[in-house]
Amino acid sequence: MSNFDYFKPQSLGEAWGLYKKFPGSRYIAGGTDLLVKIKNRELKPPALISLRSIRELSGIEIGEKTRIGAMTTITDLINHPELGRIFPVLTQAAKRIGSPQVRNVGTVGGNLCNCSPCADMALALLVLDARAVLTSPEGSREIPLTEFFMGPGESCLVSGELLTKLLLDKPAPNVRAIFMKKGRVKMDLAIASVGVLLEMDGVTCKKARVAAGSVAPVPLRLEKVEELFQDAVISKELILKAQKIAMESVSPITDIRSTADYRRHIVGIYVKRALQKLLGNEKLLRGVQGGGFLEKSPPGRRRQK
Ligand SMILES: Cc1cc2nc3c(=O)[nH]c(=O)nc-3n(C[C@H](O)[C@H](O)[C@H](O)COP(=O)(O)OP(=O)(O)OC[C@H]3O[C@@H](n4cnc5c(N)ncnc54)[C@H](O)[C@@H]3O)c2cc1C
Repeated sequence: MSNFDYFKPQSLGEAWGLYKKFPGSRYIAGGTDLLVKIKNRELKPPALISLRSIRELSGIEIGEKTRIGAMTTITDLINHPELGRIFPVLTQAAKRIGSPQVRNVGTVGGNLCNCSPCADMALALLVLDARAVLTSPEGSREIPLTEFFMGPGESCLVSGELLTKLLLDKPAPNVRAIFMKKGRVKMDLAIASVGVLLEMDGVTCKKARVAAGSVAPVPLRLEKVEELFQDAVISKELILKAQKIAMESVSPITDIRSTADYRRHIVGIYVKRALQKLLGNEKLLRGVQGGGFLEKSPPGRRRQK
């Protein structure tokens, strides 16, 4: 591992000052992505600027707009007393990240700023329509998270700018979301992953958000699938069409984890399964008719095949 200076500023101003003073330096949050790259000699920064003591970057505030500080660790996010109740998809994704050791130091901001196509938190935040607040000495700007990822390892942050927080609107009461991930083993980066959110009004879908990971240069929203569900009455045919469109919407690669074909297949299957799970009627896809789509069968009455 190469040598570098290490600084622990107490304020944003101090961090920006150090960033300017040491050209090529890097911000470090938990270091679980960055230190691996330094160890593998992919990066050789002259200085690391720790974000750990900067108060503005930490903490979770629940409200009409929920605020998640960029330095919130994955463990703190999971253990928050209210967050998981309001946004269960966030804790579902967080629990699938690495090991307890990784989750104890790895942060939400680091997961996003690393800009890996397989970043688990990105999918959950994308389906929740999260907004990212980016701050530099010139001021702050708020952008939809969809605009944050530019390519593998590349974000829209300009030199020295920091991701300071994420903002989430309070979800409507009839919103449900799910995160699904396929890895080679339980603790692994995703071969492919999917996040799906539905807002339902009876059998009609008012809003759908679908995101996929590890199947394109960035974590991405599958807008063509979302459009399919907008104000649509959900049927078996529609779900199968969503599966097909999801597979057509991605551009995976073959690497040590998987082939491109398998990734594409998994995305289609997971979109279908996620929809089934959210809608709570898994029989629909097996062609069983009758009853309200979201209604459970009356107890003791078997549906006809
Ligand atoms: C064994 C292991 C298993 C893992 N498993 C998973 C997994 O299952 N799923 C998954 O998604 N990830 C996984 N990861 C990757 C990693 O742990 C996560 O992405 C983690 O959330 C990164 O956060 P961090 O705080 O450690 O980021 P760091 O490594 O500190 O930073 C990552 C990058 O973001 C930049 N950065 C960090 N914070 C900010 C900020 N606020 N503003 C601007 N730039 C910033 C840094 O400069 C750096 O370039 C794993 C890593 C390891 C080592």
